[in-house]
Amino acid sequence: MSSSKFELKEIDGIHQIKINVPFPVKYVCVYLFELNGKKILIDSGLNMGNWKNNLFAAFEELNTSIQDIDYCIITHLHTDHIGLIHILKKKNPDLKILMHDITHELLKWETSKNNLKIIENKAKEEVKQLIKYGMSEKQGDRIVYFFTFWPRLLEYQKPDIIVHDGDVTFDRLEIIWTPGHSFGHICIYDKQKQILFSGDHILSRITPHIGNYLIPDYLAEQYKEYDFENILKYYLESLDKIDKLNPKIILPAHQDIIFNPHERILQIKDHHKRRLSEISSVIKDKPLTAYKISQIHFGEDLDEMNSFMALSEVLGHLFYLQAQEKVKIIEKNGKILYYS
Ligand SMILES: [Zn+2]
Repeated sequence: MSSSKFELKEIDGIHQIKINVPFPVKYVCVYLFELNGKKILIDSGLNMGNWKNNLFAAFEELNTSIQDIDYCIITHLHTDHIGLIHILKKKNPDLKILMHDITHELLKWETSKNNLKIIENKAKEEVKQLIKYGMSEKQGDRIVYFFTFWPRLLEYQKPDIIVHDGDVTFDRLEIIWTPGHSFGHICIYDKQKQILFSGDHILSRITPHIGNYLIPDYLAEQYKEYDFENILKYYLESLDKIDKLNPKIILPAHQDIIFNPHERILQIKDHHKRRLSEISSVIKDKPLTAYKISQIHFGEDLDEMNSFMALSEVLGHLFYLQAQEKVKIIEKNGKILYYS
């Protein structure tokens, strides 16, 4: 097996480093470029297997070492984007790390050993609710494990700069808060080049997963004007935010570079519109649990993880419809049924 497996591409002076991952997304991309004499890296990549070595090999090919990189901007909390950040910082203590306030708060909360029990209890509470939505108790136990497993892949790294929506860094890189795929997700927009780094917010072939995750009470309190359940609403609004910027090129963290951003955004919005109307019509005068709807929509032969993702995706759409008063709920034998 070859030790360096990466692909390099240059787009308007920006280097795309594309490295294999053993997940359905196949590749994770990070971007390296220079601005005002500073070297900037978008996302830190995955701390798993050979990924790190491949990243360093790619840096070498670009005549760069980690010591040369001045800034790393993290798009969101997921392990394929933030996984290596503590290692990069260790290798280069001068590296300045930027992340959104929510990403930082969640990273801190999830990686603190003191919170393991709290997270487990929160996961159990969440699963109790998922069982009401139709999930089996046995699957519920696995989901508690899932919620408590993911944080263990992460390690805390304090950011040097906390960013918020609308911040402009390096004179022209605008931070756009795009909640949806992850609460603290940001895109980074180069206003001059009209190029957007989209993280997982906009991808070329798949629509990113929209679901609900655990959050600590203090964060819910801090962002209390924000309805963490109706995440689809925020995701769709985040798409409009990007569309308004009128980017020419989107550089995503997976899959292909997008040269028709407006069209791609319309496709993704259409996809959700279709799903919303399909879900509504399945439950027309026929109350069903969210779990049953997800089986009708995505099939019954999914494995545990994927059937959980399917349920979470359907719930995202149901919460959206519910907020618009397009679906109603009734409770029957401890289960919540939706109908339109
Ligand atoms: Zn990702």
